[in-house]
Amino acid sequence: MVLHWFRRDLRLEDNHALSSACQYSKERGSHVQCIFIFDSNILSELENPRDRRVAFIHAELQRIQFELAQQGAQLWVVYGDPIVWHTRWSEDPSVEALYANRDYEPYAGLRDTSVAQLYAEKGKPCKWVKDHVLMEPHEVLKEDRTPYLVFTPYARKWKSLLPPEGLAAFPDAKGPWSPPSPAYTFPSLEDLGFQACSLAIPSREIPMDVLAHYKETRDFPGEAGTSRLSVHLRFGTRSIRSLARSAYPTHETYVNELIWRDFYQMILKHFPQCPDKAIKPAYDHIRWENNTEHFASWCQGETGYPLVDAGMRELNETGFMHNRVRMVVASFLTKHLLLDWRLGAAYFAAKLLDFDLASNVGGWQWASGSGCDAAPYFRIFNPSSQMERFDKAAVYVKKWVPEYGTSTYPVPIVDHKMARERALFRYKEGLSFASLM
Ligand SMILES: Cc1cc2nc3c(=O)[nH]c(=O)nc-3n(C[C@H](O)[C@H](O)[C@H](O)COP(=O)(O)OP(=O)(O)OC[C@H]3O[C@@H](n4cnc5c(N)ncnc54)[C@H](O)[C@@H]3O)c2cc1C
Repeated sequence: MVLHWFRRDLRLEDNHALSSACQYSKERGSHVQCIFIFDSNILSELENPRDRRVAFIHAELQRIQFELAQQGAQLWVVYGDPIVWHTRWSEDPSVEALYANRDYEPYAGLRDTSVAQLYAEKGKPCKWVKDHVLMEPHEVLKEDRTPYLVFTPYARKWKSLLPPEGLAAFPDAKGPWSPPSPAYTFPSLEDLGFQACSLAIPSREIPMDVLAHYKETRDFPGEAGTSRLSVHLRFGTRSIRSLARSAYPTHETYVNELIWRDFYQMILKHFPQCPDKAIKPAYDHIRWENNTEHFASWCQGETGYPLVDAGMRELNETGFMHNRVRMVVASFLTKHLLLDWRLGAAYFAAKLLDFDLASNVGGWQWASGSGCDAAPYFRIFNPSSQMERFDKAAVYVKKWVPEYGTSTYPVPIVDHKMARERALFRYKEGLSFASLM
């Protein structure tokens, strides 16, 4: 029996590791068994019993289970520590090998190294392959083999290296499958300690008119101008290759966003400390404010700045926020409120359905000025001008802030001019302090 371990690749079609496991099993006269582990180390950190990510994964696993059942197979879904489960499976004489797609997060790297060791001790192969990204962190490097810190040359090199066959689909998984085992029953959300919640799952398809007009519409949160595919790319319910095939090379602006995704995966892999530390170390010398009331107002969408409030309320209600608005609320937190970007990143991590450590940290460090190719610290978004530019008719704002324009809407919690000057002063102070060290 050959195990395929689902992680960020919740689909049977165009799945590199699963397709390879099927091929390997066919050649050896063996069978494939699909597995998924609800990792207790991760789940125990989630505070909300109605966590949307858990509900999303659970629903997608049910879909896979249904698709496998139609082919006479079964998905083993278990709960616990992956090391404990893999110790058991690696010792099972009927298990011959393990296949999985690579995951570039620091926790996953350590976990997978330990798992590989378990199978190696039993003389069983573990095969890890590329699936989650189009170009892996080690594939696009500078001539001296160091990582790019600036996006434009990275993207240029990325485009020069991506071979046309790099977007080809892997054959859909059709077995041969192991027969179902009564030893494994599909857990309910309640068995996992969670509860059902309302989930608005976007389509897995990108409408062709969105792709065609993406360049002009993507910055306007009141329009349906972006693909809304982030959750599917995060959990692999849509193959990144199939999406890139629809866009590459004609829809360059859209392809560039997919390259940003690879770029941040690359940065996280090469700078595994970046979820906690500024990529540009000098930025860790900024004196942040410690105003819990301001933080609470930001979280609740009650800052008195309509675009910021609309974004935060959209996030709280749906688990999604438009990219332009993510940039505005992140800039507002770090510059106007002068609160540590890590607070904002943690709040997004708890709320976003598409939460992805690499893109989230990348986005937050970009906004705070401390990241790779970040906005210079002195370029401070004016949230009112951003609304004037990107939501002039207040279509987006009115959707999420119904009391906008009435007397019940809060007054601004900080004055823009004062906040801007304070941010400039504190950033300058922190950076000059760092330069003396
Ligand atoms: C502060 C901040 C935090 C963010 N946190 C996350 C996160 O946790 N998870 C996440 O997937 N994205 C994150 N982003 C990036 C971006 O906002 C979302 O990917 C995008 O809004 C998702 O909407 P969409 O699918 O309609 O995007 P589209 O505009 O249709 O883009 C297509 C795909 O490209 C990728 N993409 C687009 N923009 C970016 C970007 N700037 N960086 C990396 N990938 C990008 C996404 O996978 C997206 O689905 C963050 C951005 C900021 C500024």
